[in-house]
Amino acid sequence: MTTLIEPASTLDGRHIHYGGRFRAASGTLSIPVGSPATGAHFGSVPLADAADVAAAVAAAEAASGPWAALDALDRGRHLRAVADLARSRMGELASVESAITGRPIREMRAQMARIPEWLEYFGGIAAGLEAESNRLRGGFVSSTSYEPYGVCALLTPWNHPILILVKKLAAALAAGNAVVVKPSELAPATALLFAEWCREAGLPDGIVNVVTGDGSTGALLCDAGGVRRIDLTGGTATGRRVAAAAAARLVPCTLELGGKTPVIVFADTCIDQAAAGAAFAAFVAAGQTCVSASRFLVAEAIYEPFVAAFKARTEALRVGDPADPATDMGPVITSAARDRCLAHVALAQREGARLVTGGGRPDLPGALRDGHFVEPTIFADVPPSASLFREEVFGPVVTVTPFRDEAHALELANDTPYALGASVWTRDVARAHRVSARVRAGMVWVNDHHKNDPRSIWGGYGDSGYGVENGWDALKSYQHKRNVVMSTADTFDDWFAGGKRYG
Ligand code: NDP
Repeated sequence: MTTLIEPASTLDGRHIHYGGRFRAASGTLSIPVGSPATGAHFGSVPLADAADVAAAVAAAEAASGPWAALDALDRGRHLRAVADLARSRMGELASVESAITGRPIREMRAQMARIPEWLEYFGGIAAGLEAESNRLRGGFVSSTSYEPYGVCALLTPWNHPILILVKKLAAALAAGNAVVVKPSELAPATALLFAEWCREAGLPDGIVNVVTGDGSTGALLCDAGGVRRIDLTGGTATGRRVAAAAAARLVPCTLELGGKTPVIVFADTCIDQAAAGAAFAAFVAAGQTCVSASRFLVAEAIYEPFVAAFKARTEALRVGDPADPATDMGPVITSAARDRCLAHVALAQREGARLVTGGGRPDLPGALRDGHFVEPTIFADVPPSASLFREEVFGPVVTVTPFRDEAHALELANDTPYALGASVWTRDVARAHRVSARVRAGMVWVNDHHKNDPRSIWGGYGDSGYGVENGWDALKSYQHKRNVVMSTADTFDDWFAGGKRYG
């Protein structure tokens, strides 16, 4: 077995992490964890059962009261200590993340370098959260306060395992909650590692707890009575199930779900820059991000030159070993994901789309032959009726479609039940404002794509879910806002004795 990660209990198939340490799971089944690039087996994690989930939630409940009672400045200090530790071990985190997700090491180093930002940002702004106080008619004073929910369940996907976890966790903890995390069964290692690092950094026991397992474990966590708030990043079908579980217990939830992101390229755009942006937007993370550009809508006047430039950029991408710093694109996560991508390719060809580049499995040497690689693939002339135009692929297969004018571009862009990301490429400021206001998406980038920052809210609507990550809105979504109204009058305004309280 490849030794990937220390401590060894992280992937020994027996331990989960709650109450401040690795503990033997009660569930006796385990889930293998392997390399998408070679199929090599790294180890396994337990399939946590109901007893494990109950124990982790109980540990979080026990810890949440004292944590909530801490001053926000003190919670911020704890989060900065975790940020410092993560910063000092960024290289290790990047290697594990790259090995388990198949994302290129260069990409993961860059992503890991940003992890501390979320901890520092939320640790900082929580101390600046101001409540309001108002004087009301009749001598009343109304004052608001923010209170944490208690225990929050964080359900996270495999594509950016630690980034998405930290986005949620930093807001939840800064707001005064404890969390129980259920990472994806495909990428559980860094969540366990991170829980151990939180302990090392001095976070009180029970504030960060991790139960590994599959969707059944996630469902048990959603149903656990002690869980008072749920936050999921995942697919739309999972979002519907989690929302139903949350509704059954009247527990609030945030759902960051899928998308079918349009990129609108107007004729006044520099074609070279737009093509460079297109290659990044479409193929970073092998097209496996919720905002991966999947539908390119291009003005007729520059359609063929854009397709040619995008093709050239795409064919220059180096597909291969994620551990090689020169690699631009790694494999997709599983053989099933690869087969799904290839099925989309076959269907697009049957439906008459023009294959511009890619469409198959790359020819790679040695152990990489057993990896789940798919060539970066572009189809042109794809009509809105085509399956590839409508369905989320979650892989490196994209479409290009011409548009006549602005109205046609918006009609094509908005022809989807999703509303997550979109980008608009134009040098015309007025048009940039018009189109970004009308495109159906929770996040719009102009002359760029996929810019993520703790200060910039992140989330969608429609089939892309509801609620947001990042920013003050995320912090506040992890708290109840309460109100206390106090009479300062020296007598009670007795309504039944002719009082005027409604006046
Ligand atoms: P899934 O929906 O399969 O899983 C997300 C998480 O939910 C995993 O931890 C999963 O466990 C868990 N889960 C699955 N079923 C249930 C259930 N019934 N109750 C509770 N938890 C459950 O998503 P993927 O991991 O496959 O991620 C890909 C999807 O995520 C894509 O559709 C993508 O668009 C979306 N995504 C959205 C982002 C956003 O910000 N909006 C960002 C990144 C991805 P397990 O994996 O072990 O089954």
